[in-house]
Amino acid sequence: MTEKQIVVLGAGYAGLAAATRAGKRGQVTLIAPEQRILHRVRQHETAAGHPEHRPAVAEVLRGRAVRHIAARATGIDLAGRKITLDNGEVVAYDTLVHALGSRTAWHDVPGAAEHAYAAERAAGIAERLRTADRPGTVAVVGGGATGIELAAELAEAHPRWTVRIVAADQVGGWFSDKGRGHVHRVLRGLGVAIHEHTAVTAVDTEGLTTADGRIPADLVVWAASMEPHPLAGEAGLAVTPAGRAIVDDHLRSVSHPEVYVIGDAAEVTVPGTGTLRMGCATALPQGQYLGKVLAGRTDKPFAFRYIVQCLSLGRRDGLVQLIHGDDSMRPAVLTGRTGRLIKAAILKSVVMSLR
Ligand SMILES: Cc1cc2nc3c(=O)[nH]c(=O)nc-3n(C[C@H](O)[C@H](O)[C@H](O)COP(=O)(O)OP(=O)(O)OC[C@H]3O[C@@H](n4cnc5c(N)ncnc54)[C@H](O)[C@@H]3O)c2cc1C
Repeated sequence: MTEKQIVVLGAGYAGLAAATRAGKRGQVTLIAPEQRILHRVRQHETAAGHPEHRPAVAEVLRGRAVRHIAARATGIDLAGRKITLDNGEVVAYDTLVHALGSRTAWHDVPGAAEHAYAAERAAGIAERLRTADRPGTVAVVGGGATGIELAAELAEAHPRWTVRIVAADQVGGWFSDKGRGHVHRVLRGLGVAIHEHTAVTAVDTEGLTTADGRIPADLVVWAASMEPHPLAGEAGLAVTPAGRAIVDDHLRSVSHPEVYVIGDAAEVTVPGTGTLRMGCATALPQGQYLGKVLAGRTDKPFAFRYIVQCLSLGRRDGLVQLIHGDDSMRPAVLTGRTGRLIKAAILKSVVMSLR
């Protein structure tokens, strides 16, 4: 009997964690364009000009029966069970793991896609800051974790630039009072100007138009929110209105059970925990779980509880917010150097957990 073809699309946290575990037991094909892992949770450091920490995909896959094809999927033929690639190859599968993640959502704001840097264009942001004739103003749009980490890191690394963070609601508004208070104190201490309840309505070469007037900026970084990769919906998998694939308790597509969808691309709901938010913290355990399923090491449903949320706030400070298993806030936080060290330890453990 020929071996079943397992194909994993995407080498983010979810895809890699699944491929390395499944590849302990049988042959797996991994399709993703990059030779070094994206490691998105460290992209704010790269944007600020710090050295990149991106291990080679080959290093993560070492010793596992995983063939990496460095290409992009352009289509999924669900009826024919085939993937078409941008290098002209066609790859057949029996079991498909869709782990294509997410990308910046521009929310149809005029000029945003043309004039702003998406948060994940970290190297481009660093280059733009490095090559500027003179210091100017950076506006970071988005008061979520990505926007906060970027604003803090950029302000600390480029003290001669003015950094502004612009949010439609509150900056770090979901944290406990203590957590939010700490984020605001650190940002202000780094000289970051905070604009809350300020919806951006347009972006141009000279800055932002908002409901409250103009915010001039030489560089706009867009960290407002993420949307799932569109290929799941385009292929015909059952998706939510937002485009995340709908999966069952084993992370299988409800419309095509031979396809598993994990990470940011999937809408995963866990009893007692709720619908999981996009994040490395949720993508990685999904990949680890699915790898075990594919290797025949478990057939239990996927289970998940949250423990902490953490942020780096520049190189010297951080926030560890204690949370309940359903992602709601506890009052307690760890801050300062302790918060920073815990966050750094978590970042280190992410790469180790991929294998
Ligand atoms: C700046 C920044 C900071 C962040 N910080 C945190 C944090 O501190 N904590 C946290 O929990 N989350 C954080 N996140 C969110 C987190 O990075 C994502 O939720 C996480 O990366 C999702 O993992 P994933 O495996 O689902 O997808 P991704 O990491 O997005 O990986 C997707 C994979 O698919 C590949 N791919 C895309 N298109 C194709 C194609 N057509 N064909 C083949 N392959 C393709 C990509 O190259 C990549 O390999 C941050 C995000 C950003 C942008």
